[in-house]
Amino acid sequence: MFMSYENRKLVSDIKQKGYLKSKELEQAILDLPREKFVSGSLKRFAYEDIPISIGHRQTVSQPSTVVIMTEALDVKKTDKILEIGTGSGWQSSILSKLTKKNVYTIERIHELAESAKSNIKEMGIKNVKVIEGDGSKGLKKYALYDKIIVTAASPELPKPLLDQLKIGGKMVIPLGDYYSQEMFVVTKRGKGKYDKVSIGFFNFVPLLGKYGFEERK
Ligand code: SAM
Repeated sequence: MFMSYENRKLVSDIKQKGYLKSKELEQAILDLPREKFVSGSLKRFAYEDIPISIGHRQTVSQPSTVVIMTEALDVKKTDKILEIGTGSGWQSSILSKLTKKNVYTIERIHELAESAKSNIKEMGIKNVKVIEGDGSKGLKKYALYDKIIVTAASPELPKPLLDQLKIGGKMVIPLGDYYSQEMFVVTKRGKGKYDKVSIGFFNFVPLLGKYGFEERK
């Protein structure tokens, strides 16, 4: 069930909202049908501009939000990217089409990490590496990164992520409380130094971990 008409309609809806200026990003969305990243009866909502449940109280983000964050990240072909919050694997798959280097993506929920791996494999993508763990600590093994994207809300900028970003590198991250967050584009200017610019308000699931929110039992 590859609904290319619906996918093209989604792309045109996002453009009408004033986003999606990049031709490459548009092609990546067309090449990566969102229905392949959601399951069962939810596939029928895949081309609506809404978040969709992927189980475990998590969601694949709204397509226009994915576009806003990806464009803000300003990906270059030579960028090594770290994503925190793999979820379905749709965002990391999109990023994989924009760079020739690896995209490392961390997910804390085992079942989601496994299903993302299989979604990414099904798309024939080779440059996304899914790692299971607490992404609020980053991924020291492959640091430094040119770009970091955090697809869950954090109460503050996790220090390890800033440390693992190259000088001149960019991080896109929603910061705030459990209920509402402001999205920032953070540019690293030196050791422990950065600028941050707001690009609007969003609602994300929480980043749960050592440098994020504490898990509520
Ligand atoms: N980018 C995803 C996609 O394309 O489907 C959507 C991400 S969803 C909005 C946020 C994800 O962040 C959830 O899958 C959640 O389990 C994960 N998450 C939350 N805290 C995390 C942490 N500390 N480390 C890694 N993943 C985390």
